Amino acid sequence: MTRPEDAAARKAVEPVICYPVETLPRPDMSLYERVRTCLTKTGEVVVAPREAGAFRVPAGSFFRITSIEGPQVGDLNLFNAHNLGERFYSGKTRALHGTHITTGEQMWSNFPYLRPMATISHDTLCWYGIDEFGGSVHDVIGTRCDPHTHHLLSGEQYHHCCHSNLTRALHLETGMALEAAELAVHDVLNVFMCTGFTRDTGQYFMKASPVRPGDFIEFFAEIDLLGVLSACPGGDCSSTHSSDAAACYPLLVETFAPADGALDGWSSPAVNGYDRTHGL
Ligand SMILES: [Zn+2]
Repeated sequence: MTRPEDAAARKAVEPVICYPVETLPRPDMSLYERVRTCLTKTGEVVVAPREAGAFRVPAGSFFRITSIEGPQVGDLNLFNAHNLGERFYSGKTRALHGTHITTGEQMWSNFPYLRPMATISHDTLCWYGIDEFGGSVHDVIGTRCDPHTHHLLSGEQYHHCCHSNLTRALHLETGMALEAAELAVHDVLNVFMCTGFTRDTGQYFMKASPVRPGDFIEFFAEIDLLGVLSACPGGDCSSTHSSDAAACYPLLVETFAPADGALDGWSSPAVNGYDRTHGL
């Protein structure tokens, strides 16, 4: 390995933020704060351990994911309920908001739509911040545990990774072919998962989630949503995943409607305004 003479100077260059968010359109959080004080519950789904469940949320409603019974991580996929081609874009959400998201930050959709699908309206784990290892909660850096990587590393067949749980639940909810559902499942929001990158090797790490029964993360649906949530086979992700070894618990998903007239003047965000001519 040959280091250039000015290696130290090159490494000392100060970083700049890739996507400064000063011009990013922001949601009216004071409106959402007001509206969420007067909600009517409209439904619930209990997601069994090592399984996934689907739920639908109209634009302007809220959904809440709550830890019940024991610490448990969830892997969340979001789709436009009327166009499954519009789905959560973990990578761009990370580029805009950072590696982990909390209250006031948004889940963005893929190209060419690139608009907020959901806004986090409340997060009881927002106190966690960033710990001494660089870990934080609700990440958009992990992809989802999946049987392909597991097979690559172990040679085993395991069918209850989040990727398979999400695939089964999407197939059962929509009636789409299993193969189509498999291809529609995408990188997730890792709800309640505590993760980061090691400083010495840059490797993705996980540690026991700080979530406790009663903790919840709540979202405002910016568009009509189909959500699919997997209760990860890693449980609280303190040691292993992609197996039946970890203690796993259910997750509760509840949906809530706002009071009549509470959102007067509010409308769903439009799809992205780029003209899509790509220079031709
Ligand atoms: Zn998982």
